[in-house]
Amino acid sequence: MHIRKQRLLTPGPTPLYPPALHAMMASDIHHRTEDFRKLYGETLADLKQVLGTSNDVLILVASGTGAMEASVSNLFSRGEKVVVCYAGKFGERWLEMTKAFGLNAIPLKAEYGDVVTPQRLEAALEAEPDVKGVFIQASETSTGAAHDIQAMGRIVAKTSAIFVIDAITGLGTMPLDIDGWGLDVVIGGSQKAFMIPPGLAFLSVSAKAWKKGETSDLPHYYFDLKKEKKNADKGESAYTPSTSLILALNAALKYIKSVGMDKLVANAQLLAKATRAAVTELGLELFSPGSPAASVTAVKAPPGMDSGLIVKGFRTRFGAIIANGQGSMKGQIFRVAHLGYFDFADVFAIVAALEIILAAEGVPVKFGAGVAAAQRVYAEAAGVAR
Ligand SMILES: *Cc1c(COP(=O)(O)O)cnc(C)c1O
Repeated sequence: MHIRKQRLLTPGPTPLYPPALHAMMASDIHHRTEDFRKLYGETLADLKQVLGTSNDVLILVASGTGAMEASVSNLFSRGEKVVVCYAGKFGERWLEMTKAFGLNAIPLKAEYGDVVTPQRLEAALEAEPDVKGVFIQASETSTGAAHDIQAMGRIVAKTSAIFVIDAITGLGTMPLDIDGWGLDVVIGGSQKAFMIPPGLAFLSVSAKAWKKGETSDLPHYYFDLKKEKKNADKGESAYTPSTSLILALNAALKYIKSVGMDKLVANAQLLAKATRAAVTELGLELFSPGSPAASVTAVKAPPGMDSGLIVKGFRTRFGAIIANGQGSMKGQIFRVAHLGYFDFADVFAIVAALEIILAAEGVPVKFGAGVAAAQRVYAEAAGVAR
């Protein structure tokens, strides 16, 4: 117990894929050279393949929020009516951002732990036929809930509005058929399922979204999607790219391609299922039981206990970083991630550690009960007879 390996178990940043980290050491490369154009072009092509879309895919030097902002400032106009579906802290970011850019945002709110249903979106779009955009999170990381993007995509596709999806923790944790479901803008971030450090944001842009953007009148300069597209077509970025992160992304995408994006999604879903089974077995409650996300599992602390004690227990006893609740959920819930470079051994260790931490706080726990529940999920999926 005297050696504690540092483990990052949060829904961003996530554990790093070691070869991607090693690739970053080759960053003594200039970005206006043939070598870099080859790297950048290949990375964009791999990203497009991993996202599974024929839409344009662009990379920005920013955290995920930068691509969220770019989608607003490049594609919309002042005063335009948009629907913002929001069910947590990241949805609130869409609301604040669309308001900051002077859009006329119609909020479609769900309580924390709940989701906005496709039926509500459909009704809102019927009531307001002049809506020009719909904003949502595929996976709302703050509550651990996932939206029904497929059903909503179908609804938005029938209108002239564009569907803008913060899929920053949705990519790699849930199926997202960008072209098939009519997902006009799909946003990702490097520090989530892509297994590399923070600093890159990316987004896919549909023809419908580009068309809409032609009349956009909102101010923007650094995040200029048209300019990025023009440069990307030549294998370059508009401004100095984050060379080290492009090297990392290139390596991580090769790995994701070798695993298969569908398998990466299945992996997160299975780990999430095992985690839910384990915490339920331990008598804990899920925060978003109705439509739990596979990116992160949000769990309520036992009644009367501050979830910060569990977060602290992970850190001080095991050197592991898990996430507390955000905003008013702080102290109420704790969150464990499954997106990207996580495996079953992580889940077994996390659950075993959780059992120890709960016991140390005086919560009655049968050691091994949660671990066994997770093992049963593995055994069933792997066909291991018991
Ligand atoms: C992490 C995350 C973001 C982006 O946050 P940044 O700190 O800007 O990378 C946005 N939306 C969701 C759902 C996220 O999980």
